[in-house]
Order: sequence, then structure tokens, then C-alpha cells
Amino acid sequence: MPAKKRGGRWVDFRQVKEQVRFEQVLQYYGLLDGLRRKGEELVGYCPLHDERRYNKDAFSVNTARNIFHCFACGASGNVLDFVCQRENLEPREAALALQDRFLSDQPEAANEKRPRQRAKEREASQTPEAPADRVPASGEATVNPPLTFELKNLDSKHPYLNDRGLDQKTIATFGLGYCNRGLMQGRIVIPLHNERGELVGYAGRWPGEPPEGEPKYKFPPKFHKSAVLFNLHRVDASEAEDKGLILVEGFFGVFHLWKAQFYNVVALMGTALTPEQEGLLLAAVGERGKVVLLLDKDEPGQEATARIVEQLVGKVYVRVVDLGEASEPEELSVKQAQELLCFAR
Ligand SMILES: [Zn+2]
Repeated sequence: MPAKKRGGRWVDFRQVKEQVRFEQVLQYYGLLDGLRRKGEELVGYCPLHDERRYNKDAFSVNTARNIFHCFACGASGNVLDFVCQRENLEPREAALALQDRFLSDQPEAANEKRPRQRAKEREASQTPEAPADRVPASGEATVNPPLTFELKNLDSKHPYLNDRGLDQKTIATFGLGYCNRGLMQGRIVIPLHNERGELVGYAGRWPGEPPEGEPKYKFPPKFHKSAVLFNLHRVDASEAEDKGLILVEGFFGVFHLWKAQFYNVVALMGTALTPEQEGLLLAAVGERGKVVLLLDKDEPGQEATARIVEQLVGKVYVRVVDLGEASEPEELSVKQAQELLCFAR
């Protein structure tokens, strides 16, 4: 049975792939008129990468087989793959979108989730300060499956990155850049990896103060940040065992300490250390290993520090570092960071 039910709505992937025509999808995005017909194919500039730099016929859609290919950026696949890349969606989200747009006789609203539940999920997935979101129990889909695409054409020269004190080397190390399309449109994106180094999502930071109604950080709708310790995959395993791990709240704390040559730093993406994150942390530092807490100086940060100390006591050696005059790690000068954390290098 091809239909799958998860999280409330039915979507039939095979039906979507077979019945939604590429011409419809291209028409929807206003791309159809820009392509030329050549036998069974529609050819032209690729809408998935910076087309002007490449061959103008790099992109082709085989309308008979309902698939596409771009020999310049290497993207290829069916309508679902195309929509995933074009809109930065997960396959299930893309399938639902296509079903709603083009197969509208499908029963769609009948078994929608209750609005309250959806609002709760939205809040959990978009607010870094929100309590830990829930990780699906075993038997449900894999938590944060690796992405099958990467965001392209990110602007790594965006002034916001410079304003936050990041140099090009740090920006390149973490793959940061401004995104101008899809779910993360108008945001600085931060690639997120699981502990094995697989790309599992992107966080989108609004550059500056977000307008009303826009969250400061946005995460993909099905992404569980509770299952990830940001930057853990870049930390050398023996270094984590020898020197321990420095735990900060947010991404920019990691970037900043990395710049100050601390390569054993990870971020919670909030103020809670979830059971999944605790497991990752303990596995990384080893039995009787060392964890250095460097959370923000504000009230949530201090409360979180007390909570996490209690959580970890008896499992690892925990050291709490006072930020002194600074209110968050980002405010430390390189010299101050090196002095405060000299025991963790
Ligand atoms: Zn392309």
C-alpha cells in the first residue's frame, strides 16, 4: 500500500510523482515560458543554481518520463525532488504541497492535526528558547533524516556576518550565508549536522531585529533540535575526551570561541540540555569526562546553568565559568576567552 500516514495527513508519494506533471510544477513557479521544447524535453537555464554562470541549456526536463536533470549543478530527480530543492522542503512536505496544489480532489482537510497541536509544534521548532521539543518514539520516522540537498548560492559576504564579527574563514568553516529563496528566504542560514556529520537541516537567523511576527530563528517544521548538539561533529573525539566540551547556548557563541581557537565547543541551541543531547555529550567526553558550562549571564542562562549542573552531577566533572563583565561568550575578546578558558584548551 503506497499511502503513508504520519503526523495527521495522508499523502501518497507514488501518486504525486506519477500524476503531477512537470509542466504543471514549472507553470506554478512561472518557469515554463522560459524553457524551450526540444523533442520530449524542455531545456533552458537551471532554476536551482546561479544559471548565468553556466550553459544556458544545462537544465532539462524529460516530460515523457516526468524527470529533470541539470548537468551544471548535478541536480536531478522527479517532481518531488525538484520541489524539495526549489522550496527547501522535506519530501513529505513537498508531497503534501503538490497534492494540495495539483491533486486537490484528495481528502486533505479531513484528518488535519488540531490547530493547537500545530501551533505548539510550530513554536517548538522556531523558538530557540522554547522548551525541548519532542523526539518521535522508536517506530516513527528517523529523527532528523539527512537532507538530500544542499542550499546553493548563499551570500557569504552579507554585512550581517561582518557585523557579528565573523571573518571569511569562520564563515566558510561553518558554511554560513544569506539565503534568498525558499523556506529560509531573507535569513542567514546555519547548516546543522548530526553527530556523524550528516547535514540534517538549516537554522535561519533573521539578520538583525526581526519584524513583528517573524521569529529570530527559524528551523524546518519537522526538525528536532533537541536531538542535535550543534558543532559536535567538528570536535575531534580525542580532544573531547582530553579537554572536555565547552557548552554554550547559541550558534554565535560557537563561532566566536572557534575564532579564539577553541575547537571543543558545542551549542545547545537554547537553554535546555535535553536527554538526547545529554546522551551525545556523555558519549563524547567519556566516563568521568569534563564539561565546561559557559551559558549567558542573563536569568534564563543562569537558571539553565543550575539545572544542567544538577542534571550532570555524578556523571561527569562539571565546571561553570563566569563570564565576568560580559553577558554572553560573543562579548569576550579573544584574549579574555583564552584566559577564562585556559584549562579547556
Ligand atoms: Zn542546475
